[in-house]
Amino acid sequence: MAGKSFFIDTTRCTACRGCQIACKNWNRNEGSLTKNTGSHQNPPDFDANTFKLVRFSEVENEGKVAWYFFADQCRHCLVPPCKDVIEGTVPDSVIQDEATGAVVYTEKTAEAPLDDVRESCPYDVPRKKDKGPFVKCTMCIDRVSNGLVPACVKICPTGAMNFGDRDEILAMAKDRVEKLKPRYPKAQLLDANEVRVIFLVVDDPRKYHKKAVASLSPGIQRPAGKSTLAGPARRVLKTVLGV
Ligand code: SF4
Ligand code: SF4
Repeated sequence: MAGKSFFIDTTRCTACRGCQIACKNWNRNEGSLTKNTGSHQNPPDFDANTFKLVRFSEVENEGKVAWYFFADQCRHCLVPPCKDVIEGTVPDSVIQDEATGAVVYTEKTAEAPLDDVRESCPYDVPRKKDKGPFVKCTMCIDRVSNGLVPACVKICPTGAMNFGDRDEILAMAKDRVEKLKPRYPKAQLLDANEVRVIFLVVDDPRKYHKKAVASLSPGIQRPAGKSTLAGPARRVLKTVLGV
């Protein structure tokens, strides 16, 4: 069962932040109390009311300043390490929707340990509402299961945000990379075989965001023999630790 996927083409993103606001509106999330940190990125990171965040990164390229935008969110991993860790404490508290593949936290996740859950995610996505449940992007499962696209995709005016059947999205993403390669030799898809939210970038992914690609974190340094990790976390372990 292939399910659904997003394709986020960063070359088409103007950082208008429509997706960030549409996400807040649909989820009825409050604005986040924040302050000017010298960047247009606002708030500075995910929080309990911010599931979609447009990251702004200023980088130096051959003596010139470039501005990279990265409309960050949960990747809806094909085999989600966060589900593994949360359900190690609270069984049956994370739903992986059969039709779409969406990874959705329930109220029961409130009992799971904060640090372990944060560290389990290779992209540092989950946040917690005080003593309430863990929260993050739900793939707008309520919209998608009623034939609509996620709110962030609906609002995007440039075609940067795309959503559909996984096979078609993968084909679209690969086709776009091939078109961009002559001009941008570093054009690449990020962790495309591991996740349902596939980013296209045209430079080193970590110039966009330090967690743009799956990264090793203390939470996934468990003994290999006892681990049930898969997907991005397992690949990172294999690469870094050789297990
Ligand atoms: S990106 Fe993180 S929060 Fe989202 S499904 Fe994967 S492990 Fe879970
Ligand atoms: S709505 Fe589209 S163009 Fe605007 S910030 Fe989000 S991804 Fe970028």
